[in-house]
Amino acid sequence: MACPICDRKSADGYRPFCSKRCADVDLAKWMGGSYAIPSQNPDDFDELLDAMQKASEGADTDDEDGNSPPRLS
Ligand SMILES: [Zn+2]
Repeated sequence: MACPICDRKSADGYRPFCSKRCADVDLAKWMGGSYAIPSQNPDDFDELLDAMQKASEGADTDDEDGNSPPRLS
């Protein structure tokens, strides 16, 4: 199975993703809703995660009880 974020081979421990980074990106999509995945460039992933962290710093810091993204299993 290929990583749904970057189409690389998924890795044990991070399925269906290839890495924690891509798992985080997928989570960011669920949390942010409006973040586009710019490209397959890892630098863009860093920017995306950085933007996500900045956004969360200004948001309600409560854990998202009852608002968790669906689990892929
Ligand atoms: Zn990936």
